[in-house]
Amino acid sequence: MKKLTSVARYNESRSIANEGQGAWNGLLILIGIGLCFTGIGAFVGVPLIVIVFINQIKGNETIKGSWEGDCPKCNNIIFWHSGTKDTKQGNFNCPTCNVDIDFYENKFIHRNKA
Ligand SMILES: [Zn+2]
Repeated sequence: MKKLTSVARYNESRSIANEGQGAWNGLLILIGIGLCFTGIGAFVGVPLIVIVFINQIKGNETIKGSWEGDCPKCNNIIFWHSGTKDTKQGNFNCPTCNVDIDFYENKFIHRNKA
């Protein structure tokens, strides 16, 4: 049976949104405010709030390298963040059609079920 493959290319600086970061920051701010009410805790609480605000200003995106290509099955663009530029082999699931995809030497390979 012929394998479906597509060419993957490495993108050094793909930005990915940090999902859930906002809720986590909100919780940290609440903890910081709570610590301020304890008086002495303000020594910890105030810097905590400041750090969270600095993180918010820096934005909710991380720049990370990723392998990118078209899904061999559904043709949607897929990103694989787990590998580095030197990674030769790995596997993951297409987030759109959920097929198993092997990554091998710069190619995305749709794993055919026997
Ligand atoms: Zn797919």
